[in-house]
Amino acid sequence: MTNRMVTIRTINLKDTNVFLLPCNDGYLLIDTSRPGTYPQFLGAIKDLGIAVGDIRYLFLTHHHWDHVGFINELVNDPKSDVKVVLHEKELPFLSHERMSNLRGRNRGLKLVLWYVHNVMKTCYEPYFPKSDDVIIRTTEYSMNDIGIDGLALHTPGCSEGSISLILETGDSFVGDVAMKRRRLFLSYPAPSYIEDLQQIHDSWRNLIRHGAQVIHPSHGSSFPVDRLHKELEKHEWKGYFSDVILYMYDEI
Ligand SMILES: [Zn+2]
Repeated sequence: MTNRMVTIRTINLKDTNVFLLPCNDGYLLIDTSRPGTYPQFLGAIKDLGIAVGDIRYLFLTHHHWDHVGFINELVNDPKSDVKVVLHEKELPFLSHERMSNLRGRNRGLKLVLWYVHNVMKTCYEPYFPKSDDVIIRTTEYSMNDIGIDGLALHTPGCSEGSISLILETGDSFVGDVAMKRRRLFLSYPAPSYIEDLQQIHDSWRNLIRHGAQVIHPSHGSSFPVDRLHKELEKHEWKGYFSDVILYMYDEI
């Protein structure tokens, strides 16, 4: 871990945080929020004094609709010259070749997810990687070559190819592997929608092992890594009252 400060610029677009970090010759952007938010994003970066041409890389934490919403608009913007950094396991989902196994963590959230998919009909344009995109095929990938002192870590659990960016400072951008928002009786830091809770916990352990200090989730405000420690301990001691209730209520 290093004490070197990194300026983190956070933009909240319709409940999804996107982040800008300085990198070689410009900025690395983490995620792209929901479809339809590109004009809002352009306005927000203009206010920060950043031009779209300054964004060199887009780090895609995972393929969900609220994170890939304007990927094509950004990549195809005539003023942009951005390369996408993503994990190979996200490719089939981005191209719509396969559907994700995402589910809500309780019956209420399952209903919300059904509503989101079938009534709101949320969808995103398929994305097909370009030849100079960075496709990560390993569990750890050094970001040093692009001017980021840190690692991309494979952190599955909310999506098979979910990745987190962990800086030398301990700042960790985790997508939806952890979040700080309350939904239908479930408290943070576990995400509301998951593929595999055990994998989520393993991903937290991996982040902790790599020196995570501050968790910057895509939904909700940043929080100290201690919160992940506490939640893991809680799950190791299954006798906690809230867990009993949740187990009675539904699988978690
Ligand atoms: Zn999300």
